[in-house]
Amino acid sequence: MSPTEKNHLEVRNPATGERVGSVPLSAAPDVARAAAAGRAAQKRWGALRFADRARILSRFHEAILGPAHDRILDTLQSESGKSRRDALVELVTVAGTLSYYLAHGRRALAPEARRAPVPGFTRVEVLHRPHGLVGIISPWNYPFLLGIADALPALLAGNAVLSKPSELTPLSAELGRELLIAAGLDPDLFLLIHGPGAELGPALIELVDYVGFTGSTATGRQVALGAARRLIPFSLELGGKNPMIVTRGAKLDDVVTGIISGSFSNSGQTCISIERVYVERPLLEPLKAALRQRLASFRVEWSRSFDSDMGSLIGEQHARKVEAHVTGALERGAKVVCGGRRRTDLGPAFFEPTVLEDVPMEAPVAREETFGPVISLYPFDRLDEAVAAANDSDYGLNASVWSGRRPTSRRIARRLEAGSVGVNATLLVYHSFDAPMGGMKQSGLGRRHGPGGILRYTEAQTIVESSTALGGYESLWERTSSEGFASLLRGVFRWRRHVPGAR
Ligand code: NAD
Repeated sequence: MSPTEKNHLEVRNPATGERVGSVPLSAAPDVARAAAAGRAAQKRWGALRFADRARILSRFHEAILGPAHDRILDTLQSESGKSRRDALVELVTVAGTLSYYLAHGRRALAPEARRAPVPGFTRVEVLHRPHGLVGIISPWNYPFLLGIADALPALLAGNAVLSKPSELTPLSAELGRELLIAAGLDPDLFLLIHGPGAELGPALIELVDYVGFTGSTATGRQVALGAARRLIPFSLELGGKNPMIVTRGAKLDDVVTGIISGSFSNSGQTCISIERVYVERPLLEPLKAALRQRLASFRVEWSRSFDSDMGSLIGEQHARKVEAHVTGALERGAKVVCGGRRRTDLGPAFFEPTVLEDVPMEAPVAREETFGPVISLYPFDRLDEAVAAANDSDYGLNASVWSGRRPTSRRIARRLEAGSVGVNATLLVYHSFDAPMGGMKQSGLGRRHGPGGILRYTEAQTIVESSTALGGYESLWERTSSEGFASLLRGVFRWRRHVPGAR
């Protein structure tokens, strides 16, 4: 290996094995240099008006949907092996996130007047100040979306960003950076470091003022410990084992559409994808037949064309893990409804869309996140049973309900322990940019999207003012020097509890 190769991370297309690029490997001194450069650039950037920051990011928005569009899709596909359709979903999700924050970020960040202790005499204002240097650590399943989209509100809020993409998929984030710089962003405001997470992740956490982590629950716990040691704020977007409930009344064609996009898009490698389907018993056989029929023409292949349904998984090792989940279930008595095999004829990282039934709870696939195109069907007789089974998980990220009646589905949705629930939908929450998205239980801490998704990149600073007339508010302490004044004060506090505007 030449020295240049030794200091680089080589990227291969998992679908074809072809070498598709490389990025320089970072070491601890690179992380320190990047952090220092980011901090220096943030001082100027944080002092700009929102509109000035937004102007630059608007140009990025135009570029990704315009001239850079094909390059982004090509890069995404090349490093992940995913289908073109799945690559496009990432691109439009980045665009949607950005257009939401371009339109609404300013209002979320604006100084807010709050109720004052003595209206007219005192004044309270809350400012939202950027943390300074925000660290982002992201996984491989959506390299452009997760490497870029969470950084955009952080930038709009006035921060610099130091980002560590997955070592398996660093190229999309590099391209995103190139496009941000072409749009006019100071290169020191969005910095990338590349290399093994166990080494660079902790190094990044040591130097940033906030860490936004997306990845597995096990790594998330390490990130939380690192952030706790430094007492810096953090958010964790972690794994899921997301359930769907289908009751009598649901239209099976629609349910199958939901399962196909919600479980098999992105080769099932989506944190919010559906892996468990609880179906009212009379619907079980018709649902199996409908799934078999629709999946018979499902195209799994490596292709640059939009008419391909599914690409590869992220690599052979991951395909073997998915296979182990399926064989582990079959060894314990589960049956294959359709699929069930690795497609080694297509390459080492392909797996066909798979539907299982009779999966016992001892099988790893029943409880652990598979993160592949595999679902298990569980019939139920009573709704309470289905709700209890859906909630019987350490995870609580996303869920889905299909009943044929939206009010009924909504009632079921409210009983589910998940950060988001789709009614007649599975992945829709990710495009509901105005609403918080994240997990309950072991699926995370904090939320992305909505006003909170930009405010998390800021520190609240409260500025309180008092008039100095009559000695000002603080003189109350000295004045309370007699039983009479103390009683007056108690009276005022009793009174304000009942007066709208004063409480
Ligand atoms: P992972 O946890 O292995 O890695 C995620 C990132 O953390 C990578 O960049 C990795 O290099 C880095 N990392 C590894 N060790 C680290 C450490 N000790 N300290 C800091 N960083 C470290 O996850 P993955 O396999 O890349 O991604 C798949 C997981 O991500 C799945 O569990 C999936 O559900 C989850 N995910 C969650 C969401 C969400 O929004 N909730 C979105 C996408 C993926």
